[in-house]
Amino acid sequence: MCGIVGYVGKKDCTQVLIDSLSKLEYRGYDSAGIAVFENGGIHVEKSKGRLKDLEEKMKKDGRPYGHCGIGHTRWATHGEPSDINSHPHGNKRISIVHNGIIENYKVLKTFLMEQGYGFESETDTETVAKLLDYYYNGDPLDTITHILAEIQGSFALGIMFRDFPGKIFAVRKDSPLIVGTSEGENFIASDVPAILKYTKEYYLLEADEIAVLDENEVKFYNVHKARITKELQVANWDIDAAEKGGYEHFMLKEIHEQPTAVKTTISPRIAEGLPYLEESGLSTDMLKGYRRIFIVACGTAMHAGLVGKYVIEKLARVEVTVDIASEFRYRNPLIEPEDLVILISQSGETADTLAALRLAKDRGATAMSVVNVKGSSIARESDIVIYTHAGPEISVASTKAYTVQLSIMYLLAFELAYAKGVISKEKCMELTASLSEIPEIYENVLELKNRCQFIASKLVNADSLLYIGRGLDYALSMEGSLKLKEISYIHSEAYAAGELKHGTISLVTESMPVIAIATQQDLYDKTVSNVKEVKARGAKVFMVCREGVEVDEDVADYTICVPSIDDLLMPLVVSIPMQLIAYYTSVLKGCDVDKPRNLAKSVTVE
Ligand code: GLU
Repeated sequence: MCGIVGYVGKKDCTQVLIDSLSKLEYRGYDSAGIAVFENGGIHVEKSKGRLKDLEEKMKKDGRPYGHCGIGHTRWATHGEPSDINSHPHGNKRISIVHNGIIENYKVLKTFLMEQGYGFESETDTETVAKLLDYYYNGDPLDTITHILAEIQGSFALGIMFRDFPGKIFAVRKDSPLIVGTSEGENFIASDVPAILKYTKEYYLLEADEIAVLDENEVKFYNVHKARITKELQVANWDIDAAEKGGYEHFMLKEIHEQPTAVKTTISPRIAEGLPYLEESGLSTDMLKGYRRIFIVACGTAMHAGLVGKYVIEKLARVEVTVDIASEFRYRNPLIEPEDLVILISQSGETADTLAALRLAKDRGATAMSVVNVKGSSIARESDIVIYTHAGPEISVASTKAYTVQLSIMYLLAFELAYAKGVISKEKCMELTASLSEIPEIYENVLELKNRCQFIASKLVNADSLLYIGRGLDYALSMEGSLKLKEISYIHSEAYAAGELKHGTISLVTESMPVIAIATQQDLYDKTVSNVKEVKARGAKVFMVCREGVEVDEDVADYTICVPSIDDLLMPLVVSIPMQLIAYYTSVLKGCDVDKPRNLAKSVTVE
């Protein structure tokens, strides 16, 4: 998820590695480390914290000096940020850096322990290092192809073998890695900015391709150890554009990262077609034993909780209360020790949510958190933690962190409903299978970009607008409305469609556009009636509906048709057009999309 670099050439390698890693700092990280060939061995230095902490440590321990090495900035997914868990991992003869998640690391670790291997870190990465050691037969390429057949999940790996000084090996699947090349020196990196100071020429490593670098050349191989040729790319971005992977803003980049974010979050939590959350410490027995569920969060995370409420109540028939954290902590809530309190926070540092967690624990309830940042305060203080694997989110407006939170809400709801016997195993498997289709569906939903840009052009001059919907569509309206107002500064309100005529409809005129979300089939006709009410008062209506649904002209002025999936899962699908509409409106208004005024990414004050 964060940064890998590697260098082989004539320069002071430590300097190049630190310098390149600093260009990847924007990706967010919690620890850093390097491994450099020195005096016939591999010299490893690593430290929790920032790159400057690593540099301080090297001042004390001794700074490696050599001309070939690998470096890493870690964004912890398995094990707290700590010196021991930092990369590189390995032993005297092999050193590796890894980005991503090894999904089957537990099985591999058990196997390796049976073979007598000891482990010092809590990371999934260490199993790859030990597996390489296990298969090592003096032929690095052969060894790498062996482990490729065994490891599952997402990875970009930079590898060094003591017996092959001056060589770097690299391979990837589902995590990015490029190979930079220049006269007398070569590089690996997670992203182009890391190498731009040295070269503009690079190769894009594809899944399961292996790169072997020394100072004079780069060779590529497929999994059958056959040589392959690759097309040289030339970067024409400046550093700023390169950090964003060519996207104009981090928000747009992160919107596009959602297929991977959702996949990485759900796939380790599905076993034999059913949700599997036990690894987080949440057993099925515990789950079905809770009396009531409270979901407490702020902003976008709270909206993920609202979807969670609908889905859990509908499927599992367990009462769920959703609270804004800043309200919850002061309302003396009726929590009992038999209750489960779920705290949702991207950063895991949200002050109000942390206070709510402490309150829940004081009352004896079980505190379970859904957080994106490993080792954050909320994660540390919770009884149970389910980590989302969105990777670092840079844009202040949350996008991928929201959809991964939703994904966890679904897995919880499915598991709870099945555990309580409300749905059958087959139904649970069917729902879980539909959830697994989301990453693929997202690729199609992202194609709505142009349509959303067009819709944004129709909204950009509005002073105020309404988002309406019923049921799950209402929960989504709230998130759509928040996204728009936080980055485009256009006032908007989300309203339950059926509630409009109890007051708010008096605001509706031809200058008040209405975005109506109508994806819930059982509520479709009801929502259409409400849409007609606003249309009759002159509003321009933009309707979000399922593909294949015929919408009459007298109902909507414009439609956005999204791919169809089970009603319950439609919020995951609709989130993306909501994000894109907000994004393009903000761009058209010339706002600072990634850093909207008055807002902070992680709200650590009350
Ligand atoms: N899963 C690995 C770890 O927790 C790699 C994390 C990363 O991509 O930085 O150490």
